[in-house]
Parts: sequence; C-alpha cells; structure tokens
Amino acid sequence: MQDTLTKKIFDVDEVRRDFPILNREIEGKPLVYLDNAATSQKPVSVIDAISDYYSRYNANIHRGVYSISMEASAAYENARINVKEFINAASEKEIIFTRGTTEAINLAAYSYGFRNVQEGSEVIVSELEHHANIVPWQVLCLNKNAALKVVPVNEKGELDIEEYKKLLSDKTAIVAVSHISNSLGTVNPVKEIVKIAKAKNPKIAVLIDGAQAIHHTRVDVRDIGADFYAFSGHKMYGPMGIGVLYGRESLLEAMPPYQTGGDMISRVSFEGTTYNELPMKFEAGTPNVEGAVGLNAAIEYIKSIGFDAIEEQERMLLKHATEEILNIEDVRIIGTSENKASVLSFVVNGLNALDIGIMLDTHGVAVRTGQHCTEPLMDKLCLPGTVRASFAFYNTKEEVDIFIKALKKTIAILK
Ligand code: PLP
Repeated sequence: MQDTLTKKIFDVDEVRRDFPILNREIEGKPLVYLDNAATSQKPVSVIDAISDYYSRYNANIHRGVYSISMEASAAYENARINVKEFINAASEKEIIFTRGTTEAINLAAYSYGFRNVQEGSEVIVSELEHHANIVPWQVLCLNKNAALKVVPVNEKGELDIEEYKKLLSDKTAIVAVSHISNSLGTVNPVKEIVKIAKAKNPKIAVLIDGAQAIHHTRVDVRDIGADFYAFSGHKMYGPMGIGVLYGRESLLEAMPPYQTGGDMISRVSFEGTTYNELPMKFEAGTPNVEGAVGLNAAIEYIKSIGFDAIEEQERMLLKHATEEILNIEDVRIIGTSENKASVLSFVVNGLNALDIGIMLDTHGVAVRTGQHCTEPLMDKLCLPGTVRASFAFYNTKEEVDIFIKALKKTIAILK
C-alpha cells in the first residue's frame, strides 16, 4: 500500500494548478484558503469526473439493462471497491455510502445502537467530539434510558486515557471517539482506544469518527481494529453529499436497515418484505452516483500525491504557523498536543474570534471562527470560541506568512 500511495517529488506550485479555486481573488487579493477542516477544495480531476458522468453516462443504477445504466452502476461499484482498498477493509460489503460522516454515525447509532443498547447500558464519547458524534448517541441514550459517559480532555487537549479506562464498565455497549479533533487537531490514539475497549469486553462496539483523519493520514481500518469508521468525501478533496460508513461485516449483517424503500429490498409484498444483501441493505433509494464517482477520483488524486508528501507538507505548514503565531503578543494556542494534525486553533486576549475572522477575510484569508460544532469542548475550555486555521497540502509557507501578517494588522486595528 505504501508504495502505491507515494509519489516521488512534491511540487506545491504544480499541485496548486490542479485546484482552480486557488486562483481566486478576494477584493483584489489572492484567496488564502485556511478552512480545510470545514471542507477541502477540489482538484480538476474530481470536477471533471463529475462533469464526465453527467455528460456521458448519467443514468439510474442497479436496475437498467441498457449501456449507460450499466456504466453508471459499474462506476458506482468501482468507487466502493476503491474505498475498500483505500482504507484496507476486508470486503466491499463493509463499505456503505452515506451522505457524509453525520449520516454514517446516525446509521450506526440508529441501526446498531437501537438494537444493542438497552436500559442501563452505557455509551462512551469524549469531550473532544464534534456534535455529529455526540447528539446521535445522546438521542439513543435518551430513548433507551441508557447513560452517556464522557472521556475528559487534559489542558493540552488530549484525551485522558486513564479516565477512559475507568469509565469502561460491564455496562459499556459502545465507544465513539474521533480520530482527529476538528477544533484542536489532536490525533487520538485510536488503536489503543479500541484495544482497551476490546480487552474489557470484545462485545463493546467501537466507532471512530474519521472525518478529520481520512485525508491527513493513511487509514487502515483493520489495523485500527474498530467496528465502525465514518468519513466524508468533501473533507478529502471529493464532493459534498457523499460519505462512508465502514462497518465490520458480521455486525452489518446482523443490523436492521436504517432507511427503507427501493434498492434495499430483495422482495416486497403486502404480507412482508425481505431485505437486500450488504451493502445495498443500507442504501435505500437512488444513491449519490455523482458523489461516488467524484469520491473515486478524489481517492485517485490523493494516491497520486501520496500520504508521505501530504503529511510532510502539512507538518511543515503547522510548524511554521505555530512558530510565527507564538511571536505575536496576546495570542494563545488552544490545543497543544505533541501529536497534532495541521489545525491551529487560537484566541487573542481581549478580542472576539468572529471579528478577527471578518477582518482576515478583507485580506483574502479564509479561516473558521466560533465553536466549530464542539460546544461542549468550548464550555470545558471556558471559551466562547476560537479562530481556527487549518492547512491542506496545497497551502504554502507564503500563504502562512500572509495569514500571520494579516493577523498582526487585524490585532493592531482591533486592539
Ligand atoms: N466529525 C468531525 C470530527 C468533523 O470535523 C465533522 C465536520 O466538520 C463531522 C463529523 C461532520 O461531517 P459532515 O458534516 O461532513 O457530515
């Protein structure tokens, strides 16, 4: 896998030419896009793949006996095979296409959760989670009279693994944690988290929210050992509206459908319905074929760059930005784990994050401000929100410098 995912020479200028949006100007200034944790930009190969699908073989899938329907079906199923290989799943039956991470987690919570969580059961999440990995479990627990337990974070923004061990009990049914925190960039020790849960009780199901990891690092679901792994296409240079729930085949087989309707059935009569096999059992209705085609192209694009180059470039950007920002008075970095992805969250004493974001936009710099869909984490940190700059491999050192210069000007004006 390593060799096929590695390209020899990384040239950021060449790579940037693949992303048309990076040529945009905002009020006469070049766009400096540093909101990659919210969504990534799309290479021309992804845009072209979607356009090609609609120009040449748009048709509904799985049912047509004519050529373009069969071509569309093959493209959709090939995308599934490519996803399977990309994350090293055991079978394409384990790859369920969803609208994104949010729907993937909801699928697991409603289908697996409602069947396996009983009154008195416990579900463990962490303080770092995105709302998408909190609310579905909270709703499940409310419905089942089960308890939601929360792993705390320390002052660096790392999960307290000793506390996690203490939270695991004979009642624990599910553990759901993120691979990488979207707010702070902390990389969680997911393999260890799974191992600890399984050592306590092999029946505990572990779901990893991989929304912020899938594009930063090589993900091997079998190595991690989780039962479920969720991610979104749009964070990994693919289109919006497509995502994946990886699930262990034996669990998916035993789970009831999440939504019902066409395509997920094998036979329907008014007396009763039998369900289709995996993975179709979980894909009711006309699926997002365009999304799967685009996701397939995005995976090919990531492979053509290689995770070695991606990680090296993003590490360089984070290091440079961290060093530079620490030179600015009154700035405090939020999230200081040793093991961080290219996310730089910070606050400026006495200033409002939103004001900083609005001012940075006048310099062409796009950052995210606020709670980043992690309100419980912000409450824990006693912060109304942060400014978050998140870097992708197509960002440059020069862009970091523009951002830092704009931030200094912003602080000077707002103070
Ligand atoms: N989980 C994490 C860690 C995220 O960062 C996000 C999106 O920012 C989500 C879940 C939800 O992803 P989506 O909105 O693509 O469903």
